[in-house]
Order: sequence, then structure tokens, then C-alpha cells
Amino acid sequence: MQVCDAQPMETTTGRLVGKAAFITGAAAGIGRETALLFAEQGAKVAVVDRDGDGVTDVVAEIAAAGGHSVGLTADVAVEASVAAAISDAEEAFGHLNVVFNNAGIMLAEDGDAQSTEEAVWDLTMDINLKGVWFGCRHGIPALRRAGGGSVINTASFVALVGSATPQLAYTASKGGVLAMTRELAVLHAREHIRVNALCPGPLRTELLMSYLDTEAKQHRRLVHVPMGRFGEAAEIASAALFLASDESSYVTGTDFAVDGGLTAAYVTPE
Ligand code: NAD
Repeated sequence: MQVCDAQPMETTTGRLVGKAAFITGAAAGIGRETALLFAEQGAKVAVVDRDGDGVTDVVAEIAAAGGHSVGLTADVAVEASVAAAISDAEEAFGHLNVVFNNAGIMLAEDGDAQSTEEAVWDLTMDINLKGVWFGCRHGIPALRRAGGGSVINTASFVALVGSATPQLAYTASKGGVLAMTRELAVLHAREHIRVNALCPGPLRTELLMSYLDTEAKQHRRLVHVPMGRFGEAAEIASAALFLASDESSYVTGTDFAVDGGLTAAYVTPE
């Protein structure tokens, strides 16, 4: 476990003061932006990713901004790794109030029902769906020990509408995340544990830009977005902040779309 050495004074202002958050996929993209924002808003943050160097960088960035974090290298597809990370985070902070199961992949080899190789299907499911299950399996008991809390699972707009660019394993994994989120929300509602899904639209992050690697492919995706632009990871972090904070105290089981209007559109303006 990497612990940031220079612990700053306890933060007393911000929308997450007093809370401790566990964020997977926190070395890049949505997870990184969320880790920085949560720390700025007073949370203690467990920065969790399989990319150890990336974790070190984000922990250093948080420390430089006066925030409080621990870095944990973990693979969300391996149950023992997730269990250890949750346990280390809880031990470091004394409690956990927010679990953001955000790590995910989208493989270039993902295709339609015929072209998708079984190995691509399995790896996508292991990280995107089983990884979220492991985060819930070990995170929810930690939230219960804290008297309640908020689970946020990153799904996608493709859990809500079909994509014309085939990525069947990815789409199915995100549909599973959304269905699992709804059921867990119902199961744990009386325990003061809220469980919500974030459904981001297409974002300008490494995950999507390495997939839409030509201007033509990017244009094909943007045709469906009423706002006519890709979203930014920071715009998803803002939504995660709402779901993590007590401002969303009556919100559970939602599919919170942050997608530039994509899922509302039949025809988009020129
Ligand atoms: P990203 O590629 O920028 O960052 C993902 C992070 O997850 C990386 O740091 C990576 O190392 C980490 N990660 C991957 N597999 C891991 C594993 N097995 N264990 C631990 N960490 C792992 O991606 P992003 O765009 O920030 O995506 C974050 C989430 O948002 C994903 O679940 C993705 O499916 C979802 N999403 C992204 C978009 C988009 O357009 N970018 C749209 C909808 C949903």
C-alpha cells in the first residue's frame, strides 16, 4: 500500500467532509478526475488501479493540492485483490462511506455476435461486470460497518441504447452493471446504502479515443450527440460527486445519464 506521507490538516470545508471514498480505475480518466475532485471536496480517497505508476502520480497530485489519499494497486477482476484493497482502505481511514466501482475496459477486438472472440468476451466481463460485483461484494459490508453509504457503479449509455458500432461484450457487461445496480439498490435501501449507476456518454478519455482512432470514427459517434461534442471526464466526476454526497440522500437505483443528450435523441441537429 502506498500512503501519502505529508498528511495535511483535516479539511473542514467541502461537500464530502468526513467521508472516505474508494475509487477504482483512479489512475486515469473518470476515476482520476473523481479522485482529485473528491479530495478537493474534503474526502479521504483510496486511489485504486492496476496501474501502480498512475496511482503514485494521482496520490502525489492530491497531496500537492492539500488533499488526503492512499494509493492501492489492485486488479478489480481478482477477488482477493479487491478484498485486500477494501480492507486496506478501511484500515487506513477507519471507515468507508463511498465505493465508486469505475474501472473498465473496451477492447478493440470487441465486435458483433460472430466476430467477438470468447477470450475478448471473458476478459471484458471479468473486469467490467465481475469487477463491479467484487467491489459491491466487499464494499457493501464496509459501508454497512460505517452505518450506510453510497455505491456508484460506472455503466454506460450503451446499457440504455444499442450502439451501431458493435462492441457486444462491452455493451452486455454494462447492461449487467445496470441490472445489478438496480437490484442491489432495492436489497440495501433499508440499510442506508444507496446504489446508483452512472451512464456516461462518449467521453474524450483514453478508453474511447484509442477506440475511435480516426476523425471519421469520431464523427460517426458525434452524429448521435445533440451537444455535438465528446464529454470530459471532469463532467462525469461532478455527477459522481452528487451521488457520493448527502445531497443525493433520496436517490437510489438510478441510471444517471450524463451524455450530452444522446439517449434523449431520435434525430440530432446538424
Ligand atoms: P480510462 O481508460 O481513461 O481509465 C480506466 C482506468 O481503469 C485506467 O486507469 C486503467 O488502468 C483502470 N483499469 C482497467 N482495468 C483495470 C483492472 N482490471 N483493475 C484495476 N484498474 C483497471 O477509462 P475511462 O474513460 O475513464 O472509463 C472509466 C469507466 O467509464 C469505465 O468503466 C468505462 O467503461 C466507463 N465509460 C467510459 C466512457 C467513455 O467514453 N470514455 C463512456 C461510458 C462509460
